[in-house]
Amino acid sequence: MNDQQQTAGAQRARAEIDLGAVRANVRTLRERAPRAELMAVMKSDGYGHGAIPCARAARQAGAGWLGTATPEEALALRAAGDQGRIMCWLWTPGSPWQQAIEQDIDVSAGARWALREIVAAAREAGRPARVHLKADTGLGRGGCPPGAWPDLVAAARAAEAEGALKVTGIWSHFACADEPGHPANAAQLEAFRAALAVAERAGLDPETRHLANSPATLTLPESHFDLVRTGVSVYGLSPSPEVGTAEGLGLRPAMTLSASIALVKQVPGGHGVSYGHHYRTSGDTSLALVPLGYGDGIPRHASGSGPVLVAGKWRTVAGRVAMDQFVIDLGGDQVAEGERAVLFGEGRQGEPTAEDWARAAGTISYEIVTRISPRVPRVYVNG
Ligand SMILES: *Cc1c(COP(=O)(O)O)cnc(C)c1O
Repeated sequence: MNDQQQTAGAQRARAEIDLGAVRANVRTLRERAPRAELMAVMKSDGYGHGAIPCARAARQAGAGWLGTATPEEALALRAAGDQGRIMCWLWTPGSPWQQAIEQDIDVSAGARWALREIVAAAREAGRPARVHLKADTGLGRGGCPPGAWPDLVAAARAAEAEGALKVTGIWSHFACADEPGHPANAAQLEAFRAALAVAERAGLDPETRHLANSPATLTLPESHFDLVRTGVSVYGLSPSPEVGTAEGLGLRPAMTLSASIALVKQVPGGHGVSYGHHYRTSGDTSLALVPLGYGDGIPRHASGSGPVLVAGKWRTVAGRVAMDQFVIDLGGDQVAEGERAVLFGEGRQGEPTAEDWARAAGTISYEIVTRISPRVPRVYVNG
């Protein structure tokens, strides 16, 4: 896309990303975990905010690590010039291990097959790999279950002794940290300590032990260890209402999603609105067309419920969200085409937040920001 097309697109709709908010959030999170280093998680294009500009902002605010899910995401950060520690955890057989090792990216292994591929790739690369061993302490997703852990640890120690790799980290991930006080949290903490003890007895000496995601960083200091892996909070969103509000946590939502009203018209009462006529006007009124739809990542599940700030008032999506557009009922208010409709933002100017959209669509705020599609131009401010 050239600049002119970008500007034209940003006129229809834009996701404005406040990099000053990203920097402020990283500083706030570092204060919450003063003895640990901070990893800013950049997976899925920085939760929809743009990984490369957000990574740069996070580094400026002192993030010692960046984290990604896929190796492609990690390699893209390196290609963009990032020179700090980067770790990446979602690997499949045949993944670009060698490229990652050559690019100084810390890799993760939670099973013997991964260690075998790492050792082979390190031999090709002619240098030792930096490996974080992942224990499943109860999430039941990635990572090595306790029964297989001694064997994985022994294999890693043997490969380390041969010079093929260095075990730089031992790590795990929480299942229920967004529910402070959930009994699974204490159980996972204990299981993690047990996994560390097994690794130490086998002769491993990892410099970086890490377990905490955003909710654990904010609510469970015992889980901080050497590094906290913060994602959603870097972008200024609370992990869950139980953990707190963004404002209460001192976080500033970085994304503001808005669009230009494309059409305003008068209609009589009883008029059906949008596909399926799931909304009918209750009397003479004015309708406004908002040029954003599920092709832009607006959840269709927010049909009839998503909130939008237009001309100082909250309006609600009237009828179905379509691929490219939805309608709001202005209740007879006069609004000019070209006025801005703000779907969500920081919330300080009366606009709804991503959390409000999450509630309207029956999901979490993580998904609301991450799903905003590439068709919506990102416009960066305070870079
Ligand atoms: C996504 C992710 C994180 C960050 O989680 P948040 O709740 O967004 O802070 C941390 N660690 C792993 C393994 C993840 O997949």
